[in-house]
Amino acid sequence: MIHRLSNDKLLEILSLSQNATGIYTGDDLIIQMANDVMIGFWGKDRSVIGKPLAEAVPELEGQPFVGLLQDVWRTGITYEAKDTPAELLVDGKLQTFYFDFAYRAIKNDLGEIECILHTAVDVTKLQQINESYQQSLQQLQASEDLLNQFIQQVPAGVAIYTGPDLIYKSVNPGYKQFVPNRELIGRSVLEALPELVGTPVEQALRNTYATGQNFYVHDMLIPLSDYEGGPTRDRYFAVSYLAYRDQYGKIAGLFGFALETTEQVKARKATEKLNRELQISEESLRLSVEAARLGTYSVDLESGIVTVNEYCREIFGLAPDYLFTAQIGLSMIEEDEERVREAMNEAIGNDTVFDEQYRIIRKTDNSMRWIRSVGRASKSTLDQKPLFRGILLDITEQKADEQRKNDFIGMVSHELKTPLTSMKGYIQMLQSKAKKGEDAFTAGVLDKASNQVTKMTTMINGFLNVSRLESGKIHIDRQRFDMAMLVKETEEDSIASISSHQVVFAPVVETWVNADRDKIGQVINNLISNAVKYSPPNSIIEVACVTRNSNAVISVKDQGMGISPQDLPKLFERYYRVQAVKETNVAGFGIGLYLCCEIIKRHEGDIWAESKLGEGAIFYFQLPVIY
Ligand code: ADP
Repeated sequence: MIHRLSNDKLLEILSLSQNATGIYTGDDLIIQMANDVMIGFWGKDRSVIGKPLAEAVPELEGQPFVGLLQDVWRTGITYEAKDTPAELLVDGKLQTFYFDFAYRAIKNDLGEIECILHTAVDVTKLQQINESYQQSLQQLQASEDLLNQFIQQVPAGVAIYTGPDLIYKSVNPGYKQFVPNRELIGRSVLEALPELVGTPVEQALRNTYATGQNFYVHDMLIPLSDYEGGPTRDRYFAVSYLAYRDQYGKIAGLFGFALETTEQVKARKATEKLNRELQISEESLRLSVEAARLGTYSVDLESGIVTVNEYCREIFGLAPDYLFTAQIGLSMIEEDEERVREAMNEAIGNDTVFDEQYRIIRKTDNSMRWIRSVGRASKSTLDQKPLFRGILLDITEQKADEQRKNDFIGMVSHELKTPLTSMKGYIQMLQSKAKKGEDAFTAGVLDKASNQVTKMTTMINGFLNVSRLESGKIHIDRQRFDMAMLVKETEEDSIASISSHQVVFAPVVETWVNADRDKIGQVINNLISNAVKYSPPNSIIEVACVTRNSNAVISVKDQGMGISPQDLPKLFERYYRVQAVKETNVAGFGIGLYLCCEIIKRHEGDIWAESKLGEGAIFYFQLPVIY
């Protein structure tokens, strides 16, 4: 026999249930029973028993529950729901709770609805956990989106590799640009970029994956081909690899970041190379400066600060710690001062080379030293400051040598003059005798001898002049005279003495100058005799004198061999002769033009030549006219 529990017993059992339980009857849902858990949910007490639900829990108004229960009462269809929010007044506060619940119609044997059994589980906590989980998920999604956006836009190459084979999972456009013609996604690095096999890149990738240690190199050499299988090109990248892990903490792949630095590395290497070369050439310059015993100086034209090398101090006889000033550098003997200062100002003003010789008194022994200073204004390479830089040479010995040579030439020339003059006299005597005796042969030979003696006298005079010039014994005797008259005299002389060439004199108007008449005459004669020497017989030589810009410009033009551009600027140097001329047997010592130049310079005039090789030459000199 089946023992049936009484209704009261059943109610008692239900009331003990851990699940919230309530029993309602009728359309107005009278609470027949509600266990403590259910009453706790409502935040009420046992006084609710016997009251209609809407009255017992008035905050349910506006919520669907009462209506749902009434539907179950009417239809008998069970209603079940999960995670359903309900607003309940608990502890004086309206709060949202979440419930899994069921409204079940309990029927009697006749199938009539007797009551509704309400069971509920509070899932608020679960719900909260779920919500926060959802939230975190959303946040994660958002941050992942942000990360993706960042990766796509960052001006660097970013690649994500997965697995030990380092399969490209994603790459950003920056990365794609490094290897534009390759298929990357889904392929392993070494398959997509086979040129990396065996390189430090492979090592770095494998090591980072194996150890999880971050890798970073600033300028990593990565030989990459422009297309798969093509020749590689050395490129440089700043590279960084970071390992990422799965939820178990195991390394799952790598993030790769790369920035191409090829251009910077190339530029740096070029600069380094240049610096090295510069260092080497500076070093060899320094060595040659030392070997040549050259003094070097640099004057800051703004501050006046002078920097000199050791040898410079030695030249001036100064201790190594003695402050070297521009004043000291230019502390020459009075006689040279004006000339040197003028030359220096001119060089700075016209941006030309300063090259002067002057005498100083050496501090250590009070001896007089000749120095040569060659320099030029320039800009400092560092800060563009105006500088005057150059070299100093002690030329005392050289000067003494020159002096000795000069004295010797002077003495010999002087000694030769007397016998030559006597010889000339004897020849003249013999000439007149031969002419009287009508000895044509002897007269002819004596003419030739006389010519040779004249040539020799001219040469000896030349040497004497050089020697006088060098020892400062040449004097300019200025007088006012008319160039037209001097040219006229020269014309008469040349008609008498030159038969080999046609010397044509252009008419000259009255042109007054203040100069040494004899010496200017010498210069014109010298230019004409050069024209004769260096042009073919019977060719034309034109002599002219015109006034241009307040200067009397005298020119001598020939149709001779001409002068090459390399030789032109050197013609006026002492003992200079054009090589090709030296090889011919045209006599000369290269002192004629030197003397002309010195004479014209002492008149504050100019002398120069214009010519093309093979097309004749024009020699000019000019002197200021006076009115
Ligand atoms: P020299 O004639 O005694 O050699 P100069 O000082 O008079 O010395 O001339 C120097 C050099 O210039 C000559 O050796 C010659 O090579 C060149 N020269 C001078 N005048 C002329 C000219 N009219 N045509 C070509 N070359 C000339």
